[in-house]
Amino acid sequence: MKHQHYIELEETFGAHNYKPLNVVLHRGERVWVWDVNGNKYMDCLSSYSAVNQGHCHPKIVQAMNDQSQLLTLTSRAFRNDQLGPLYEELCTLTNSHKVLPMNSGAEAVETAIKVVRKWGYQIKGVAEDLAEIIVCRNNFHGRTITIVGFSTDGSSRAGFGPFTPGFKIVPFGDAGALEAAITENTVGFLVEPIQGEAGVIIPPPGYLKEVRSICTKYNVALILDEIQTGLGRTGKMLAEEHEKIEADLTLVGKALAGGCYPISAVLSNTEVMSVLQPGEHGSTFGGNPLACAVARTALKVLLEEQMIENAALMGTYFLRGLKKLDFPLISEVRGRGLLIGVELLPEAGPARTYCEALLEAGILCKETHDHIIRFAPPLVITKEEIDWALERIESAFTKVG
Ligand SMILES: *Cc1c(COP(=O)(O)O)cnc(C)c1O
Repeated sequence: MKHQHYIELEETFGAHNYKPLNVVLHRGERVWVWDVNGNKYMDCLSSYSAVNQGHCHPKIVQAMNDQSQLLTLTSRAFRNDQLGPLYEELCTLTNSHKVLPMNSGAEAVETAIKVVRKWGYQIKGVAEDLAEIIVCRNNFHGRTITIVGFSTDGSSRAGFGPFTPGFKIVPFGDAGALEAAITENTVGFLVEPIQGEAGVIIPPPGYLKEVRSICTKYNVALILDEIQTGLGRTGKMLAEEHEKIEADLTLVGKALAGGCYPISAVLSNTEVMSVLQPGEHGSTFGGNPLACAVARTALKVLLEEQMIENAALMGTYFLRGLKKLDFPLISEVRGRGLLIGVELLPEAGPARTYCEALLEAGILCKETHDHIIRFAPPLVITKEEIDWALERIESAFTKVG
């Protein structure tokens, strides 16, 4: 058995830091993926929203092929002809002034932490080594030591200490708690516009607007982690646009290169980013021409093919369909654009069982925590494909429940 062999290889030789569903994928196209036995599935996870543009988008793949034959890596010791144009295009699209490119989302978060600390000391005038950054309960910002140090999730933290000091945790969605936690040493507030990994938790309306005005009032840099919510996922280029605010630093990653290449970026206003001088931060692969060329095309197709508008329209349609499902063990369906969470009642049993039933029915989903299922298909999904999914979701749920 081919399928079983691949699983055994992973289990035998790989670290067990994930517990994937037992499907071994071989090929992908738009919202569809195929396993090694030729079975077809709809991808409703999109690699945690990294494949917003759909699997193996032909134009992105073409850009990757073309650039890979020209030049792949220069390091930042020299300039390349893809980096500048990506900077300009990203700034125009997101209304930013400065860009700092990295590779993974966690690196973008680490970069933002370094930048706001330095800004705090140099511009705001915080005394040496006293800078504080406020974060939210149930946050997810990645897996480095510093980042898991301010996680409130036990399994992310346990056994990895000692951790980096200088972080304070407040409840998500509570602007009053943020204001109360600010001191003269507070340099930044790091928050997800919608908490993705926590289970698609949408804050109360007006929260981000209030947060923006509190940060302005106390001269605290607002850092929005849009690594999952950004680049069209919620039906806007950035989720901050839903409340018409602008962060001081915005973090993007995941879909920035359409799932074809790792690249992340810190988008900033001029003042905060200006504290970084040559030699103070960087990454060998950060801003490499291959990543930049792929990202430029990934951004282009997002706009050209109206994927953001489609995410808004299809998100509404999918959400409405999920709310109408004839299944009594659902406690709530919530979402914005194509970032949707279905929360099950405690008596429904573990969400993992439902994900396994969905797999059998041809739909790939992943549980977040043990009672929430996230539906986040590529933004190119059609009405017919959503109808196809809804039928199968209802019958798979009914089978388990
Ligand atoms: C995925 C994610 C990250 C981390 O990105 P990696 O590329 O996995 O390091 C950070 N923040 C949010 C909100 C994410 O969803």
